[in-house]
Order: sequence, then structure tokens, then C-alpha cells
Amino acid sequence: MILPGATLGLLGGGQLGRMFTAVARTRGYEVLVLDPVPASPAAQFASEHLCASYDDEAAIEQLGRRCAAVTIEFENVPAGALERLAAHCEVRPGAAAVAVCQARIEEKGFLQSSGFATARHAPVRTADDLDRALDHVGTPALMKISRLGYDGKGQAPVNDRAGAAAAFAALGGGPCIIEQRIDLATEVSVVLARGADGAVVPFPVGENTHRNGILDTTVVPAQVPAALAEQATRMACDIAAALDYVGVLAVEFFVDRDGRLLVNELAPRPHNSGHYTLDACLVSQFEQQLRALCGLPLGEPELVRSAVMVNILGDLWQGGEPSWEAVLAEPGARLHLYGKRDPRPGRKMGHYTCLADSAGQARDRARRVWQALSRPPAA
Ligand code: ATP
Ligand code: MG
Repeated sequence: MILPGATLGLLGGGQLGRMFTAVARTRGYEVLVLDPVPASPAAQFASEHLCASYDDEAAIEQLGRRCAAVTIEFENVPAGALERLAAHCEVRPGAAAVAVCQARIEEKGFLQSSGFATARHAPVRTADDLDRALDHVGTPALMKISRLGYDGKGQAPVNDRAGAAAAFAALGGGPCIIEQRIDLATEVSVVLARGADGAVVPFPVGENTHRNGILDTTVVPAQVPAALAEQATRMACDIAAALDYVGVLAVEFFVDRDGRLLVNELAPRPHNSGHYTLDACLVSQFEQQLRALCGLPLGEPELVRSAVMVNILGDLWQGGEPSWEAVLAEPGARLHLYGKRDPRPGRKMGHYTCLADSAGQARDRARRVWQALSRPPAA
């Protein structure tokens, strides 16, 4: 076990890393953050910030020498960096699992060969693959870049053959996946932690609503049949085992109109749809990340109260600084801000979580807060 007082490394400096760093430092660990951006959200809480790119060999070497264990908050780190680190210290999750989750082509290939249901899809590595891929998938469909997409970026709708060629070109002509567009009944996700001993602890299932391809709200417990929630939980645990995964893993699912669960994508780290755990569960996804990283027993994921998490995007700053009093005055509401200085539209700046005795009451609170927050400031 790696105990308090030890130094841990984190690749990536965004809000997920900030929340991990806050928990780790509160528990008495030192945290070195490697991230290329000065004053990033996680660096603000770090013991020390190594401001360098993820392929800076000297910085990686230093991280490996100084840390007992290293984790990630961002999956797009070069797999080579994780392999180099593994020569010095524990790296959780490991390079092989991260490599699967980094690229949609590999991720979908893994899911399919392991027998997990997904939307119909086909890789498009070059324009020569387009016709065969579209014949297999049909329309309507979505073209998605294989690597580096997030918050719905790097995606384009496809309705016919000409549209597929145009979408492939518009996305840069690099490796893509084309995927059947699902008529969604809803979306759910499972965040879980898996220890090096194979113990797996799933959090309650969250139900997610997206707006413009970006997560907007998560409601917990998910308002879906219990059997569906159980099936999602079982599938997520089986995926973690199949990847021999150590750390926190998120599995996003589509639920189609026939009530079928399809795996959308995997995230090898804590996830936006697991932020509710900070306020609503006995242990948060970030504490589980710390525990799995350090080989400590995993905590209890029990939901203490129903919760609704709402993302706060940069759009909210259009009329100036939002009126935070609105969140702070609402009983059962918890505000989290990520320390980002530049509130661009679509940028995740923070979130709030409303707790209550039922999901319906939590939703009422969340709606009340949202209305007050988005009211233009008094003249
Ligand atoms: P993030 O990493 O932020 O979760 P992303 O950019 O990786 O997002 P996806 O999860 O692939 O993107 O898609 C974002 C959202 O777009 C989905 O949660 C869903 O609402 C919608 N979407 C994506 N693919 C499909 C599909 N095949 N059918 C229907 N809706 C889809
Ligand atoms: Mg997604």
C-alpha cells in the first residue's frame, strides 16, 4: 500500500485532475502534476506543477523517479509515456487499457470481439473504406474521428454517400469510425473502481442528458427499470475485468427505443457523469481513483441522497459573472468551480449538484437554481 506522505503523479491538469488532486492532498499525499498549460485547474492545487508536454522525456523521467505511482485525468497521453513511467513506478490504469480507450477504432474493436453490444459501426481509415463502411452501417449515421474527440467535437452527421465523403473530408481525412445513429430513449453511465486485486466497486447508475453533444445533467438514481440499471452495472464490471483494468473507469451507454443497452464509449478515468459522487455518495470517484492507485481498500459507493448534477459552461458568463448567491442560497445545492479564467462558450467551467430525498425533488431544486443563475443581473 502507498500511504499518506507519498508522492503521486498525475498526467493532465484539467478539472478531473483538480478534483483528484484536492482529495489526494486532503488525505496527506503530495501530487506532482504534469501538464503543458500554465496555471491549469489541477496545477492550482498541486504540490508542484511540471509544466511540460506529455512527450517531454526529461519531464516523464522526473515524474517516474519522484512518484510512487502515476495516474491520468486525460486519456490522450502518448502510450509511450505510460510505458516509460511503468519502468519506474506503478501506472494505473496501465498503458494497454488506456490505448484501447484512446481510439474509437480500437475501443469498438475490443467491445465487439469481447461480445459487448454497440451501435452498428465500421472503421474508415481512408476514403477507400467509405462505401463498404456505409453499406454495413446504413443511414442515418455519424462520422466520428477515431482519436481526440470530446464533448461532441470531431463528429459529423451522415445521411447519404455524398454526405459520408464530405464528412470524412471535413473531419480531416484521418482515421474515423462511422456509426449508426441510434434513436435514443435515454443515456446512462456507470462509473466504477477496480483494484489491482480484481475487486470491483460500481457507483449507482446515472442518467445523462446532453445538449449540443455536451453533457448537461446527470440524475441519480437513473429513472430507468431496475433490470436495465443492473444490466448496465454488470456490463461495466465485465468490461473492466476484460480490460484487466485498475483504477476508475466510466462506461457510457445508449438506451434505444426497444430498451436495449448499447455501449457508447469508455473513459479510463473519472467522468463528468460521476461528479455527483463528490456530494451524494459515501466515497467519491476521485477518492476511489486515489484508493485504486495506492492499493488501498476501495470505499463504499452507497448513495446517501438522490442527486442532480448540472454542468456550468462558459455560455453562462454572457451577461457577466453569474450570480453564485443563487446556488449558495439553495438548500442541498453544492457549487464546484474549476478555476478557469477564460469562460468561452461550450467550455466546462464548473458544475453544481442538488441533493434531495427523491430524484424529482433534486430536479426541482436544480431547475430553481438554474433559473436564478441564468437571470440577467439587475441593472
Ligand atoms: P464525451 O467524451 O464528452 O462523452 P464525445 O465527444 O466522446 O463526448 P460521444 O459520447 O461519442 O462524444 O457523443 C456525444 C453525444 O452525442 C452522446 O452522448 C449522444 O448524446 C450523442 N451521440 C453520439 N453518438 C450517437 C449515436 N450513434 N446515436 C445517437 N446519438 C449519438
Ligand atoms: Mg461521450
